[in-house]
Amino acid sequence: MTVTGPPARVYACACLECQRATGSGFGYRARFSRQAIASIEGERRIWRRNGSSGRWVDQTFCPTCGTLVYMEAEALSDAVVVSVGCFADPEFPPPAAVFWASRRHTWYDLAEGIETFG
Ligand SMILES: [Zn+2]
Repeated sequence: MTVTGPPARVYACACLECQRATGSGFGYRARFSRQAIASIEGERRIWRRNGSSGRWVDQTFCPTCGTLVYMEAEALSDAVVVSVGCFADPEFPPPAAVFWASRRHTWYDLAEGIETFG
């Protein structure tokens, strides 16, 4: 996947679905507008699930290594949400918000200034 320009939003999500999908305590994601997606190449496998709102969420994985690369959602029709780890860029901007903060594991504290929802 190649993106152009900065993400519209960088966030973490600690909902239980993101915990299951990543095998970690939270998803760390960057939302881009569809216009910012220059290309998507290579094999991929999509798993559709329903979000807590009942609307669909498509999670796209690499079929070789199982990495969750990006997500698309019925509720975000103009966006593609990319797993930040896929950029392999330690300088990538930090999350500005944590969704489902109430479900995050108790061992990590949030940095000051991060918005929390849920
Ligand atoms: Zn989530």
